[in-house]
Amino acid sequence: MVVAVPSWQAQKLVPDVNPPGAGEGILNIHYAFQSGVKEPEFLGLVSSLTQWVFVRPDMASVTVSAAGRALAEQPDVLAARCWAEIAGAYGWAAEPLPPYRVIKEKRATFDQSPDGLKRRSGPETSIPNLFLAGDWTATGLPATIEGAIRSGARAVAALPAL
Ligand SMILES: Cc1cc2nc3c(=O)[nH]c(=O)nc-3n(C[C@H](O)[C@H](O)[C@H](O)COP(=O)(O)OP(=O)(O)OC[C@H]3O[C@@H](n4cnc5c(N)ncnc54)[C@H](O)[C@@H]3O)c2cc1C
Repeated sequence: MVVAVPSWQAQKLVPDVNPPGAGEGILNIHYAFQSGVKEPEFLGLVSSLTQWVFVRPDMASVTVSAAGRALAEQPDVLAARCWAEIAGAYGWAAEPLPPYRVIKEKRATFDQSPDGLKRRSGPETSIPNLFLAGDWTATGLPATIEGAIRSGARAVAALPAL
């Protein structure tokens, strides 16, 4: 059996596992908006709350990684602030604010501090037929899809032959 759940769930489910805890959150805001672009494009902003803007013909989406204290802000405040930033960058009208959806993922990543990294483990557990996968295991990569894939490959490689 391979358990492939977030680290804070693995800690509850698997004995003797002491994985990194939850790390940083990610903020996403999606605006329903006729942007005028024909092909999807994206832009990185600096000196702003907004970090990345992904623009499609009928939508603009903002990503803020390691969103920290911004996650405590009210959705309407965040939506207005990021819209002002991206409208300024693209030369769009700052008002009216388009319809939006704010998504706060408070536990988007595992704890990638030096202490958290020390707690990443390989796929083996103290139970012979129970293995671990997940981006938080010792993949050599940060909290990414690629890390999750590598962890799955390592868990499968560790399985005893049937
Ligand atoms: C908003 C956001 C944006 C991101 N952007 C990027 C990006 O651009 N590029 C990138 O590489 N990575 C990105 N990541 C990180 C990437 O999503 C993760 O690294 C990856 O999904 C981790 O995969 P995983 O299989 O380890 O865990 P998860 O994808 O978290 O899968 C764990 C699964 O376990 C299930 N589960 C939880 N608890 C239990 C339980 N008790 N019992 C059974 N099942 C359970 C969950 O429902 C989930 O399906 C982002 C993450 C977030 C949150």
